[in-house]
Amino acid sequence: MKIIMLGAPGVGKGTIAKKLIENHNIPQLSTGDMLRAAIAEQSELGMEAKKFMDAGNLVPDDVVIGLIQERIKQDDCKEGFILDGFPRTIPQAEALDKITEIDKVVNLTAPDELIIKRLSARRTCKGCGAIFNVIFIPPKEEGKCDKCGGELLQRDDDKEESVKNRLVVYEKQTAPLIDFYRNKGILSDVDGSQELPKIVSDTEAVLAK
Ligand code: AMP
Repeated sequence: MKIIMLGAPGVGKGTIAKKLIENHNIPQLSTGDMLRAAIAEQSELGMEAKKFMDAGNLVPDDVVIGLIQERIKQDDCKEGFILDGFPRTIPQAEALDKITEIDKVVNLTAPDELIIKRLSARRTCKGCGAIFNVIFIPPKEEGKCDKCGGELLQRDDDKEESVKNRLVVYEKQTAPLIDFYRNKGILSDVDGSQELPKIVSDTEAVLAK
């Protein structure tokens, strides 16, 4: 199945996608993770993208479309995939339509206050990328990943100045995708403000429909 996780930054797309891939044998494709990997490698693409990301702005469409186009060609995507953080603009969604056909779009929703609270408390493992939250999903030991023991860090763009801009950018550039996919009849809303197990079970119910 080819799935898109849609929703504001911090609503839980990555966390839910990671739970779904445990039950479905398909990979999670996160353009944010791909860009952060490019930054860690200090590649030209990474250095260029960092400027946009640190300010909480979107990286140019052609860059992320190129990344996804190449990733989807790989063998592990044959049975499907979960797109997390892509598409984020109408031109990206139109480009995706030309690359492949999407089966389901899950639109995760939550009030802005909760999103801001979640983003400021989010910590990501430097080693394996696991996502924690010091309020909602705390690690067993402070600052340390439960899975691999790696250091837990706050993303640069989860700091207050970037967060505000990311939410403005979401409303302006990404929220129009809700109607884009609703009009195609493949979008379902899931209440992302619930407890994690309930969000996962509601999402599974939508995918099974
Ligand atoms: P994420 O990890 O999905 O929150 O993405 C972090 C940052 O990477 C975003 O704020 C953007 O700067 C950039 N980014 C990730 N995915 C995209 C995309 N599909 N289009 C444009 N920029 C993106």
